Amino acid sequence: MNRDREPKARGKNTLPLKTCPICSKEFNWRKKWQRDWQHVVYCSKRCQRNKSRDIVNVQPH
Ligand SMILES: [Zn+2]
Repeated sequence: MNRDREPKARGKNTLPLKTCPICSKEFNWRKKWQRDWQHVVYCSKRCQRNKSRDIVNVQPH
């Protein structure tokens, strides 16, 4: 009987989850994102910056 992480095991508290492609962490839906949760990709602005940083690196010379 050792159930650590069982997704969707809880009835009421089923908040949507997404995985941040930058830090590979899972993050929960937040109320501040209720309008554009569909467009939320990164867990934080920091990760979002890291992403744009990558784009800078990819710049052609
Ligand atoms: Zn992240």
